[in-house]
This record gives sequence, structure tokens and C-alpha cells, in this order.
Amino acid sequence: MQLGDLELHLLVTDHWKADGGLMFGVVPKVLWEKHKPPDANNMIDCACVCLIARINGRVIVCETGIGNKLSEKRARQVALREPEDILHHLRRLGIRADEVDAVVTTHLHWDHAGGLTRRNEMGKLELTFPNARHFVQRTEWDFALHPDVRSATGYVIDDFTPLADGHQAVEFLDGDAEVLPGVHIRHVGGHTPGSQILILQSGEFGCAVTGDLVCQTPHLRVPWNMAADIEPLRVFEHKARLFEEAEKHRWLLVLSHETDQPAGYLEEGGRWRPEPRLM
Ligand SMILES: [Zn+2]
Repeated sequence: MQLGDLELHLLVTDHWKADGGLMFGVVPKVLWEKHKPPDANNMIDCACVCLIARINGRVIVCETGIGNKLSEKRARQVALREPEDILHHLRRLGIRADEVDAVVTTHLHWDHAGGLTRRNEMGKLELTFPNARHFVQRTEWDFALHPDVRSATGYVIDDFTPLADGHQAVEFLDGDAEVLPGVHIRHVGGHTPGSQILILQSGEFGCAVTGDLVCQTPHLRVPWNMAADIEPLRVFEHKARLFEEAEKHRWLLVLSHETDQPAGYLEEGGRWRPEPRLM
């Protein structure tokens, strides 16, 4: 769909499952299960939602999903199914991997950064987008290399270290930045130290990719957050700010793991109005 000068496409690269407790933290199950019914193992359906944008002749990819490097064991644990190659999706849009100018990943967890690198037919690790500038908060990079004991399982170094080792594909950010005209990155932290959201703007139009600040539609309630967040109070603060702006300026929101119409608008009173044109 077109929003001002922004051409937007949504891609769902992966369908998988996550533990309901992981997704909703201290929110009582009797409340969240009405919105996201769990299976017999308490797992709920998740998607990996990626946004492809063209703005001023540049191609931007935000979020890259799980990618093709997950071990069989891990893939089974998360019930990964229908993994679709992001490059395959791009080809359908007439975009080659080497034509992507900028890649933004909201943080470096395996389910967001997995697609930054890939195994080619020879089994060799390579960058998925060889000519792109990859924007990452320096705090996220440092934490991903030296995570605390609880966060360690969230990071896979093959996902991101090749961007810096042997390539100069990564650009470290220290906080908020406008990395290309109309392409704003906001450091929010909370979920991980260097979590960031992408805000694309064209005139009066705007679109925000929330990352795990807002995973699914039930997380549109400010205090409903993930157990994995390292700083929940910071999550609440940035969510409240984003919701206020999104409602006021009618920004299109793209939620990281929603399976059912993951893009939409927040209306008065916090009501969600999905935007079907993006699917
Ligand atoms: Zn995630």
C-alpha cells in the first residue's frame, strides 16, 4: 500500500509458537487466554512480521525473522512451520537482495535477527543483504555478545557477528537517529538494552514498526508485557508514549508477532483497527 511517498509491504516470514507465560509475563492466564488460546503445552501461535518499504528510491527492510539457520532441535521446540525465505518474498516484489539499501532490526534476538545472515547452498554463512547498511544500537550489540544468564538463549552470534567480521555492514547507533530522510530510529530499550523501533514518515503519514515493545494485539494494553523484558517499567513508559503519538498522528502500527492482521491503527479509547490493505 501507499502512504504518501511511502510504499509499504508486509511479509510474514515464519509461523511458530511461544510459551504463553513468556509472552504475557505477570498477566493472569485467565485474562490472556481469551485473546490467545494456548495449545495443550501452553504454547500460543506467533508470526514473524517484516516490513519492506520504499521511500525516496531507497529500499528498507525492517525485521528479518528467524531465517534458515535454526537447528532442527530448536525448530521443533518452537514448532516452526512454513518458514518462508525473505529473499523469495522480495523477488515477488521485484527486489533483489543486493538492491536493499538499509536493514533495521529492532533488536538482535534470534527471532528478529536470524534473517540477517543465511547459509548458502554450500552451507557457508553469508550476509542476506550484502550491500545494505544495517542499523543496530551499540548497547544491543555489546549486550548480545555478553548477555546475562537469563538472556543468553535469546542470542545466536552467527546471526549478527558476520555483519562486522569481514564486512563493514553494520552502523552502530547511540540512541535516536534519522538514518535516511524520513527514516527515524528511536531507542526504546526495555525488552533488551538496545531495543529500537522504526518510524517512517512522509508528510503527514507515518508508520511505526514496534518490535517486541508491542508483540501482539493484546499487548496494546500498556501493562501487558512479556516475561522476557529486562526493564518492564521502561517498556510501559515507551509504549504509552508511542500509543499517544500513534493515535494523535494516525500512524500505522506494525506488531512484531501478531498472526492475525498485524498492521493497523489505534483509535480513540485504544481500539485497534486493522489495515487489511497491507496483507
Ligand atoms: Zn520477538
